[in-house]
Amino acid sequence: MPLMRHNPIFFLYCPVYFDQKKVQGFLWIIDKKLLPYFDRNLKTDFMREISKFALKLSEGAGISELMKDLGIGLASAREKGLDLSLMGGGNPAHIPSVEAIFQEIWKDLGSDSNSINQILGDYSNPQGDDSIREQLASYLSVQLKSDISSENIAFTLGSQSAFFLLFNSFAGEFPHGRFKKVLLPITPEYIGYADQGIREDMFTSLPPIVETVSDHRFFYLPDMNRVEDRLKQGDIGAICLSRPTNPSGNVIPWNYIIKMKELASRHSIPFILDNAYGYPFPNILFREPKIQWDPEMIHVLSLSKLGLPGLRTGIIVAKKEIASRISEMTAVMNLAPGNIGPKFLSKLLENDLMNKISRNMIQPYYQEKSIQVQSIIDSLFQKAGIDYTMHESHGALFLWVRFPYHKKNSQDIYKEAKNQGLFLIPGDWFFPGLEETFSHRNECIRLTYSRNLEEVSKGIEILTKILS
Ligand code: PLP
Repeated sequence: MPLMRHNPIFFLYCPVYFDQKKVQGFLWIIDKKLLPYFDRNLKTDFMREISKFALKLSEGAGISELMKDLGIGLASAREKGLDLSLMGGGNPAHIPSVEAIFQEIWKDLGSDSNSINQILGDYSNPQGDDSIREQLASYLSVQLKSDISSENIAFTLGSQSAFFLLFNSFAGEFPHGRFKKVLLPITPEYIGYADQGIREDMFTSLPPIVETVSDHRFFYLPDMNRVEDRLKQGDIGAICLSRPTNPSGNVIPWNYIIKMKELASRHSIPFILDNAYGYPFPNILFREPKIQWDPEMIHVLSLSKLGLPGLRTGIIVAKKEIASRISEMTAVMNLAPGNIGPKFLSKLLENDLMNKISRNMIQPYYQEKSIQVQSIIDSLFQKAGIDYTMHESHGALFLWVRFPYHKKNSQDIYKEAKNQGLFLIPGDWFFPGLEETFSHRNECIRLTYSRNLEEVSKGIEILTKILS
């Protein structure tokens, strides 16, 4: 026994219990090399056993794995001294003219001692400050062409947490053993939804219909027949859609939204519309801003993509009963939403500043950037003879580019790009709940175009080399 000859032997006494009584003890003879294994496993560490809830949210969550991987890639690219092109994240651009306005608001709030004391020293109502909700309700009533009151509005800590509360309210386990899912009627869709269910398999989704526009452009539409059929199975608790869509930059036409809302009402379930990039703010959409709210829908808005992600402010516009339930959940989880975000919002709503920023500064900035970056891609890829096509850019911060016949799939491209200092997101991350094959999943990448033009151009040059 070579193990015994070369290593000291240790004895381990291991009692065996049955029904809380010791019935036997074993003497184990083990090799020293194995001791760390026993030590690790016998340790009484309270992290040895954690709940399913904690496991579900903390282990293998797609978004956190990707963020870790990007973080490691970034550190190694920096170590190698590579020039970086950060085209992976969802951070909004720093637009100097908009930031100048934010700085003025910050100074204004800071120069009023009453306001500082209230912002810093008082908890707000869990649904959000009453007077700010009233101010927002009158603004949204005009913008969303509906009669919205303060009772229809609830503030949350970022819209991400609004989705967590909504998804787990309308899907998951129900009395009498029923289990409901959230239907994403069209994929690709926002990766951040994927791991929000506190139960496994809370999402189900459908592939899109692909409409070809030209040699190098296409767009997606929801397949309404399939949406209708899927709802008939009776296990859907809510429908959710982002508009503009992260990652494709798609703005689904309003007549499809109406049809989806009607289908949802027929099945007595809510239709959740994610307006993180949409109308009326930040208004990063380049076509058909038509939108309306009605009590059959839940609109979710955010201050983040205006350029204020640090304020962590999300807004739910829903039936009074839903808004008040969200506020009760906020009370349990956070006591109250923050004060700075709503106060900032209130200042932005004065003198029509919100609309001026969204329509005259943010929207034109992104539209121009999107056009410039598309033309760089078109020119470099066509010169290099790369077979590619991309989703029409209707809004949001991303370009969704497809390489249909390339031998490298989206994961290969992602890994090679990362090694050369270009950060992008592989397409397969954006299909939460899709159980069938859809070729775009492995043929597409998401590029964020909101960084400065020089950095973006460098990134596209790297991509061109990888694909040539
Ligand atoms: N919805 C979409 C489509 C997003 O892309 C994001 C963030 O990137 C969010 C919601 C969540 O944003 P936040 O929690 O900052 O409001």
